[in-house]
Amino acid sequence: MPQIITRNAPSVQGHWQKELANAIKSPTQLLQAVGLSAEDLGNDYIAKQDFPTLVPLPFVARMRSGDRHDPLLLQVLPLQAEHVQQPGYVQDPLEEHDTAAPGLLHKYKSRVLLMLKTACAVNCRYCFRRHFPYQENSVSKRDWQQAVDYIAARPEINEVILSGGDPLMAKDEHLAWLLSQLEGINHLTRLRIHTRLPVVIPSRLTPELIARLQQSRFNVVMVLHINHSNEIDDVLRKKLQPARSAGIHLLNQAVLLKGINDNLASMVALSETLFDAGVMPYYLHLLDKVSGAAHFDTPTHLAQELIQQMLLELPGFLVPKLVREVAGEGSKTPQDIFS
Ligand code: SF4
Repeated sequence: MPQIITRNAPSVQGHWQKELANAIKSPTQLLQAVGLSAEDLGNDYIAKQDFPTLVPLPFVARMRSGDRHDPLLLQVLPLQAEHVQQPGYVQDPLEEHDTAAPGLLHKYKSRVLLMLKTACAVNCRYCFRRHFPYQENSVSKRDWQQAVDYIAARPEINEVILSGGDPLMAKDEHLAWLLSQLEGINHLTRLRIHTRLPVVIPSRLTPELIARLQQSRFNVVMVLHINHSNEIDDVLRKKLQPARSAGIHLLNQAVLLKGINDNLASMVALSETLFDAGVMPYYLHLLDKVSGAAHFDTPTHLAQELIQQMLLELPGFLVPKLVREVAGEGSKTPQDIFS
């Protein structure tokens, strides 16, 4: 049975930008880091991908050594299956490639999605934005101002969702500037931050960031993205604590991924571990049908059964809502678990 091993923390621990710079950028390096080789993968191995490999070392440190089926490794390791075209899987499953202003999506009536940064700290192989033309949509501070003006002119908007890429790829001082601009718009009441960065590089939750969010007049919600309980270690737990103490609401959204978390034991462990870390399970997403990710898809009826079983094992508040994003819909579409 492979063991979880704790490797030495990288020498730059505590400095998130350096940890980002030191992230693994090739499948071979990634395999080596977890005690595997290309031969262990056989025909599944690919060296080149259209969506690059990117995995920070703190995330790698939580993978089991010598286990090619490790649930964290499988989320980030490119495999041959990505090149198999499946009918129904498309480049832009949510039809998001049209933006209201550079970096701004206004697809919900009272909420806007502001794509602050066009990159992430980790490239998840199942990502629905894996083909998003980030180059064309790269956003500058001038674009942020344009987005602020757009929001200020629309009183029906009460919430701004910072997204990406990953919004926490922005520096603390830039986030502080944006926050000040948004705080000047009276009809805004909530700020939501969708991020996976603190999960893969916990040091991103800097004291400066937490302090600025605590000072804000907004109700701040941070929605993390964690798919498996092994992603939560003591380092992350410790970094989440000040965020909780600062009054930031911590929620989690996970994606149901075949071979990674599509079983009762994994989902129960995820909910329990999230709650222990002060994070409420929020959404369980069915996979967006993006080309290159079909091998992660789980049939809807299995997802429905899984949620039914979770309701028998967990208190209701630890059972996430099963949802699917449907292109053109004004909100996520809840899935009836008894249909
Ligand atoms: S962190 Fe989110 S947006 Fe970035 S690659 Fe992963 S799933 Fe996609």
